[in-house]
Amino acid sequence: MIQYCSVGAAEGIGASAHYLQFDRWGVLLDAGSDPTANGVEALPDYELLEERPVSALALTHAHLDHIGSLPVAIRRFPHARVYMTPATAELTDQLLYHYLQVQRKRGGKDFIPLYDEPFLEAIRYLYQSFDYGQPFPLHSYEDSGLRFTFYDAGHILGSAGVLLEWRGRRVFYTGNTRKSSQFILQGARYPEGPIDLLISEATYGADARAETVRRPEEAKRFARKVRQRLQLGGVVMLPVFALGRTQEMLAMIQHLRLRGHLPSVPVYITGMGLKINKIYDRLLHNIYPDRFDPGALRAMTFGQWRRGQKLHGPAILLATSGMMIPGSPSFDFARTLAADPRNGIYFVGYADPETPAGLFREQQHDRLKALLGVEAIHCQVEVFQFSAHSHRQDLLAMALQLRPRRIIFTHGEAPALEWLAAETRRRLPRSEVILPQQGEWLTLA
Ligand SMILES: [Zn+2]
Ligand SMILES: [Zn+2]
Repeated sequence: MIQYCSVGAAEGIGASAHYLQFDRWGVLLDAGSDPTANGVEALPDYELLEERPVSALALTHAHLDHIGSLPVAIRRFPHARVYMTPATAELTDQLLYHYLQVQRKRGGKDFIPLYDEPFLEAIRYLYQSFDYGQPFPLHSYEDSGLRFTFYDAGHILGSAGVLLEWRGRRVFYTGNTRKSSQFILQGARYPEGPIDLLISEATYGADARAETVRRPEEAKRFARKVRQRLQLGGVVMLPVFALGRTQEMLAMIQHLRLRGHLPSVPVYITGMGLKINKIYDRLLHNIYPDRFDPGALRAMTFGQWRRGQKLHGPAILLATSGMMIPGSPSFDFARTLAADPRNGIYFVGYADPETPAGLFREQQHDRLKALLGVEAIHCQVEVFQFSAHSHRQDLLAMALQLRPRRIIFTHGEAPALEWLAAETRRRLPRSEVILPQQGEWLTLA
């Protein structure tokens, strides 16, 4: 018998954590935290697994909404094996350490984080890493019959979908996936169908525009808009996630410069993005040996911003966080850039609608002025479509290819989940589509 429960956010981009029980064995897929919350508020509801076996934690990629509660999960389920790809292991190490500092800064001086640096040092030795396409069993004295395989998810470096096979049953969890290639990463690979249960992300399920955008044209539109700001002597800031967006946007800017679409102005990157660049530089070559020389990203970095340094245009700035969480570099920079019409703040990825980045995209200027503490917002705001997620037609195409008997949609706002559920019911009438609630138990076989 297989049972499923969404332990983390079933709706929206919150803490991802999906539990599957195969008789006496249990697997937790991802151990995320809600990037917009702090402390226990940010955790999945691990209480739901009080009486359940947790034999393994399998992590799909190193974004916080997928790994942010890993230390808490390891403390809670100390006998669980911890599986991920080699790149995810390295990135997780860096990200969790950084996240700890972010939590302390956000929480103020009385805040006690749920784990500390020595604990992070201790748990890194538990990570067992496996490459794409290399099946491996659940490591235990007794043969569980469970087998895992990672598939390249095309989302960020090291990102994986997880195929779980057990007594002839097959479950595939996409993690975050992108079917077509980006500027650095190649597109996702999926296992052969049919699949008994597909657990799919739904980030762009409500975005009708994403599927119409052609990446080369969008890059040219981006170059045109950036050029206009730079010619006026302005600064263009891209609020970006340190992991993934920063490297992809850097590669795109380099691509546009080499073709004469962008002038040679300084490109600044804030601290965490640079640390991640180093990891990308070390590992990209291993993953795509034909396409990347070691040190490819270092060769694309033209300037480094240091805290306290004043920004002068013309320049491009890649600053974390992508959602402009208060206290982050992109939030602080927005306060200095917002009033000047020569400057631009350009959005290039997903943002939760209730975060400052979401408010910018929705042109909620009154709320933003209060939040940023500025008198006026005159800078130019643009939204571009360079997502690291599949658009909804690609998600449907993936589902058609995998021919699942059951599909669970997750990792999306309600309209996104509902669009995909309705469309899948229409196109795959023999598949059962489920939109579970957090904490709801489903029995699958
Ligand atoms: Zn992600
Ligand atoms: Zn995610």
